[in-house]
Amino acid sequence: MKKEDCLFCKIGAGEIPSTTIYEDDDFRVFFDVSPASKGHCLIVPKEHFDDVFALDEPTASKLFVLASKVARSMKKELNLEGLNIVQNNGTIAGQTVFHFHMHMIPRYAGDTVNVKWIPGEADTNELQELAKSIGDNL
Ligand code: 5GP
Ligand code: ZN
Repeated sequence: MKKEDCLFCKIGAGEIPSTTIYEDDDFRVFFDVSPASKGHCLIVPKEHFDDVFALDEPTASKLFVLASKVARSMKKELNLEGLNIVQNNGTIAGQTVFHFHMHMIPRYAGDTVNVKWIPGEADTNELQELAKSIGDNL
């Protein structure tokens, strides 16, 4: 997608307003317009990457340093009991804005957030094969 057609490129550049918590040369952190819970915010690189598969190494390496700082500040300032960090890639995974972003979702007793899956069963042989094939491609 071209930058001029991308909502989060425009928000990142400040061309569309957002309630911004933090920005630097590489990222903008702003509140989600439809929050899952109080304080739900998004960490968005200013450069366009569709998803985690496209993310470059410099951005990826800075991302979690920032995420952990934002998490600590949220913990201090919101009366949260926990925090889910969610990052959707692909329509099937729930991605609706195709510019990489990381959700920071505070958790409170009695909230309506749901990020739980049904635990499955693993086949040990299959896991060993997958560990090798995925590991060999890193
Ligand atoms: P996704 O479903 O792609 O993981 O998450 C996209 C998120 O972007 C959603 O939680 C949605 O509420 C949020 N969002 C969509 N449009 C806007 C907008 O214009 N401004 C802000 N602040 N958030 C947005
Ligand atoms: Zn973009």
